[in-house]
Amino acid sequence: MARVTLDTLRKEFDRGTVVAVDDLDLEIDDGEFVTVVGPSGCGKTTTLRMVAGLEEPTSGTVHFDDEDVTDIHAKERPVAMVFQNYALYPHKTVRENMAFGLKMSTDMTTSERHERVREMAEMMGIEDLLDDKPDELSGGQKQRVALGRAIAREPEVFLFDEPLSNLDAKLRTEMRAEIQKLQKEFGVTAMYVTHDQEEAMTMGDRLAILRDGELQQVGEPTEVYQNPVNEFVAGFIGSPSMNFVDVDVVTDGTGATIRSDEAGLELALSAEYVRGHDLETGRYTLGVRPENIVVDESPSGDETLRSTVEVVEPIGSDNYVHLAVTEDFLARSPAEVKPEAGDEVGVSFSEDQIHLFDAKTGEDVFLTDEEIAAAVV
Ligand code: ATP
Repeated sequence: MARVTLDTLRKEFDRGTVVAVDDLDLEIDDGEFVTVVGPSGCGKTTTLRMVAGLEEPTSGTVHFDDEDVTDIHAKERPVAMVFQNYALYPHKTVRENMAFGLKMSTDMTTSERHERVREMAEMMGIEDLLDDKPDELSGGQKQRVALGRAIAREPEVFLFDEPLSNLDAKLRTEMRAEIQKLQKEFGVTAMYVTHDQEEAMTMGDRLAILRDGELQQVGEPTEVYQNPVNEFVAGFIGSPSMNFVDVDVVTDGTGATIRSDEAGLELALSAEYVRGHDLETGRYTLGVRPENIVVDESPSGDETLRSTVEVVEPIGSDNYVHLAVTEDFLARSPAEVKPEAGDEVGVSFSEDQIHLFDAKTGEDVFLTDEEIAAAVV
């Protein structure tokens, strides 16, 4: 299979007024599964289409192993693509749909093609559907056909463009697992595009996070979750999202205090923390994840701040406790912590669980320039 390397890949539209992909560097190892994730319009599909050969880059290159494929036509690239809308021919049967791709891209004989289609259909659990037309199939069955058709071509690179968006939640979960199993079984290098951070977290060996065409961070899901390089990644990855509060940090030679008068927040930082992080007095954005916040229904006086409960949303295993700290502040508490709306509660988190971002650039202030550069390679 192939290692895929994107080198300063750029795509401009409308005579340069729209920069869809902004000098993107990304390497996907042979057999690796990389999920490209970001909000709508950040350049995910354009990137994928340049890898497929369906979109011509404005500048930069695409390599499969050591071969520069930038100018090679889509049909000549060893890739298979799976789309959200399945892209099946409506007048052809499942068998014909699956065989057609093989006819166009291989020199297999008719009987070889039919044998391959039968094998793939069996593997995808759709052998009983081979004589059906697409409009007789459910969304999940259509996507299985599209996957079977793609894998039958034995591509070196598998490209997925939001393939599960049209399916219901349960089927989506099932198909996520199935796609990962297939990808590992065949050892195909895969690039998977989604706007859904939850999907991105559950799939893929690594995530590549894009914003406005620019790569923000590449890393394993847990790495990105625990050590986001900037406020954007911190807020985008994780559900419910990280909470943010504008704060002042005042160092006093040994320790330091984080304060926000607006949120009524005061958190003393230890001397080790201040020394270890080389923390300076200034304005920051504090980030804390909902699951790292402790809500105390009987405030003791030792809490980080006090707040009023706005809404409590039970989700079964836990409660989402919405608090009036900032406009959108949420704690994830165990099910037994269930205050009422309007209650005053204690809210605590510790220095080990916070992130501090530069108030101007949004960068995690504890990362060096080298660490930030390493996070996007
Ligand atoms: P979505 O999740 O909504 O599909 P995306 O992250 O895949 O978004 P792209 O479709 O790659 O984003 O689009 C990136 C940017 O390029 C957007 O601003 C989009 O409007 C613009 N764009 C994409 N294709 C074209 C085109 N053919 N002509 C002009 N602008 C385009």
